[in-house]
Amino acid sequence: MNTSSCHLDVFTLSNGSNLQVDVTPLGCRIIRLLVHGTDVVQGFDKAEDYLPERHVSYFGAVVGRYANRLAGGRIALDWDIIQLPQNSGPNCLHGGPQGWQYAVFNVEESSERKLVLTHVSPDGDNGFPGTVHARVTYTLGDDDSLRIDYHAETDRLTVINMTNHSYFNLNGDLSSSIHNHLLQIDADRYTPINEVSIPLGKHAPVDGTPFDFRTAKPIGQDIDVNDPQLLIGRGYDHNFVLNTRGSLEHPCARLESPLTGIAMEVRTTAPGMQVYTGNFLDSIVGKGGTLYPARSAVCLETQMYPDSPNHRWPESTGYLHPDAPFDSTTIFTFKH
Ligand code: BGC
Repeated sequence: MNTSSCHLDVFTLSNGSNLQVDVTPLGCRIIRLLVHGTDVVQGFDKAEDYLPERHVSYFGAVVGRYANRLAGGRIALDWDIIQLPQNSGPNCLHGGPQGWQYAVFNVEESSERKLVLTHVSPDGDNGFPGTVHARVTYTLGDDDSLRIDYHAETDRLTVINMTNHSYFNLNGDLSSSIHNHLLQIDADRYTPINEVSIPLGKHAPVDGTPFDFRTAKPIGQDIDVNDPQLLIGRGYDHNFVLNTRGSLEHPCARLESPLTGIAMEVRTTAPGMQVYTGNFLDSIVGKGGTLYPARSAVCLETQMYPDSPNHRWPESTGYLHPDAPFDSTTIFTFKH
């Protein structure tokens, strides 16, 4: 679709106390997330600024059809090998160059605390087979929570991985470094990557490595140590294997700014979480002319493990079958 001249609505959700979330149907993007009036997500001033003609970015977007990387842009479906666009070195990243971050979703339902958005991704969209009906629901809770429910159905075998790609900075200054943020992740293992950021296939223990966030520590504490994995990603850009195993009962992660005291707990039904510390941000001019340099945000992308369809992980297959819809839920709860 040619989006160059389109007007984009903005829907404001509020829980009546501390939480306000502004969403545009373009990629279901969260363009503002106010906690006690402090905006904690990077992005641009207006919804139209997120159009690909203005900025190529994933700020706040729901990415799909397959979030994260698919090795060589290739997937095997039944007996066919499908070649997808290679938009990140040899790999297909975040559903290809025209992924769902640029799709204008339909607004099915809108109320003060809830927004339901849907999208039909046709057969062959960005090379992916099967017509997929996707639904994203944002709901605000009394406990200052933002719940995101993902749902997808297909009419033939395909792959799926949906997440939200918000760039969080809880410091009250969206240009500041997130090295000071305390991060805790309930993960004993992570998926180490090769030189083009594809998982090697085995889960590695975090014990004794910079990837050990089982006790809260500042993101910057180990980020620049001479570790081959960190050098590949120029920082953290890795998937953690969550101990929570699909349960929403306990948080899988907690992020806190010591400057503002704003904290965010993450709960998810997803098996993994990609931690990306904004390593490739390149002084982008964002809201109110603010510059976003490298490491000025952290993305906590709850999802299937990267490149799942090309591995044999029982808890994370990455496939979507016609008779088994995809459902996934992530809840961000803010404390102040
Ligand atoms: C990826 C990064 C990528 C970023 C923006 C993250 O999910 O893991 O490698 O640079 O998204 O595309």
